[in-house]
Amino acid sequence: MANLVDLINARKGLGVRRTRIVATVGPASESDQVIRELVDAGVDVFRLSFAHGDIPSGIERLRRLRHVAPDTALMVDIPGPKIRAGSFGTDPVALSVGDMIELVEGFDASSTASRIVVERRDVLSLLRVGDAIHIGDGGVSLSVTQSGSELRALVTSGGAVMGKPGLSLPSSILNDRLPTADDRDRLEALRSEDFEILAVSFVRSAFDVVSTRTVLSRDDIMLMAKIETSEGVDNLDEIIAVSDAIMVARGDLGVRMPIEEVPHLQKEIVRHGVRYARPVVVATQMLESMTHSQVPTRAEVTDVANAVLDGASAVMLSGETAIGDDPVATVQTMDRIVRRAEQSFDYLKWGSSLGVQQIVGIGTQSTRITATVTGAAWRAAMEENAVAIVACTRSGVTARAISRFRPPMPIVAITPSEKTALQLRASWGVQEVYLSPATDIDELCDFAVTQLKLSGLAKPGDAIVVMAGSRSGGTAVTDTVRMIIVP
Ligand code: PEP
Repeated sequence: MANLVDLINARKGLGVRRTRIVATVGPASESDQVIRELVDAGVDVFRLSFAHGDIPSGIERLRRLRHVAPDTALMVDIPGPKIRAGSFGTDPVALSVGDMIELVEGFDASSTASRIVVERRDVLSLLRVGDAIHIGDGGVSLSVTQSGSELRALVTSGGAVMGKPGLSLPSSILNDRLPTADDRDRLEALRSEDFEILAVSFVRSAFDVVSTRTVLSRDDIMLMAKIETSEGVDNLDEIIAVSDAIMVARGDLGVRMPIEEVPHLQKEIVRHGVRYARPVVVATQMLESMTHSQVPTRAEVTDVANAVLDGASAVMLSGETAIGDDPVATVQTMDRIVRRAEQSFDYLKWGSSLGVQQIVGIGTQSTRITATVTGAAWRAAMEENAVAIVACTRSGVTARAISRFRPPMPIVAITPSEKTALQLRASWGVQEVYLSPATDIDELCDFAVTQLKLSGLAKPGDAIVVMAGSRSGGTAVTDTVRMIIVP
């Protein structure tokens, strides 16, 4: 783990980016060399989708990623009730408005421009005339014109499809509770694997998150709820309360909600999640055109910058790095856009607007204490112009709780846990992590001062703020804040 510290410290010379980058790994990026180049380009978290391929090959990829990128956090994404089409192949297939398409149930069969294979049992018979089906992230839509055994649909919005796109069917016919039977198999296989974050697709209620956690049976893994349905939006508060992190999964969200709602939902979900100290990832189509082009559109550049200004903890690349022509150049572009946007971020306004009382709505006593104490730490750091805020944290809660204030000074974490150190790669602004088994507050403060002096972040006379927590009735709570003038 010394590597992690070295790696992060080496980056300091490049100026520190505070918003994190998540990159999805796929055929275009899974070679050892590209993975290493992506790490150098600034990827903080690799996402591996368990929607494609069989479980053993997914596990094999996960282990290889850990081996090649030991200092990058690993997120596994389970697909939930996502239905996929049989493959259209690697070249784009055009579906034009007015085309009539047959839909058939099948597995391991190819789709064509006139026949789409639906890889889910017993679902086609539930479709009715007039039902809408969206393909991929919503560019192509169909309307069912004939139901029953010979199901047909008309293309109402055309475009090109390739690979194995997702199919969005009306949510009224997708009533599977999470985790689905397929997800259970994946969770069982993942139970003994080394990764940090589990992204859970199509979360509609707190119950979905709690049941997934129960099946996974691990308390060292962060659960990230993907908000991508109207029920997920309606139940946001209860979902946040039981999740460790949130994703604004704009692809499916944009086909299940009116598309013009997406920017506003993004702002609301980011604000809500961050206020409750959950890292929030903004995902999908961020630099989509770079899948096949060297330069992003102006609209995409503006979108990434706006996600930073909205307060996102991380921005995510999907197809751009999974199947794109140049995953490394795409991450480098995202890195540049994010760094520039951070120069325009209003740190004082963001931190000042987070009232502690806002936590009260869903907070337990321990989360309220954590909110109050980290709020005090933020104010002390701002008023005394501290050079760093240090979070001594076992679970990561203290670091995430101060991160929500988006302080302009570096956040430094000290933790006894390697898993926590990696999980903090998803948290905004936690730019250095040190491992220490110490639990005594005086020892931790001495350790913090020594490390900050060594790293060049602090010199004699500088103020630093140190926060620490304890366990109260089994729950982590941040209950201590100290201000230290570096000797
Ligand atoms: C999304 O729908 O935006 C998303 C992130 O999910 P996936 O990429 O798994 O479809």
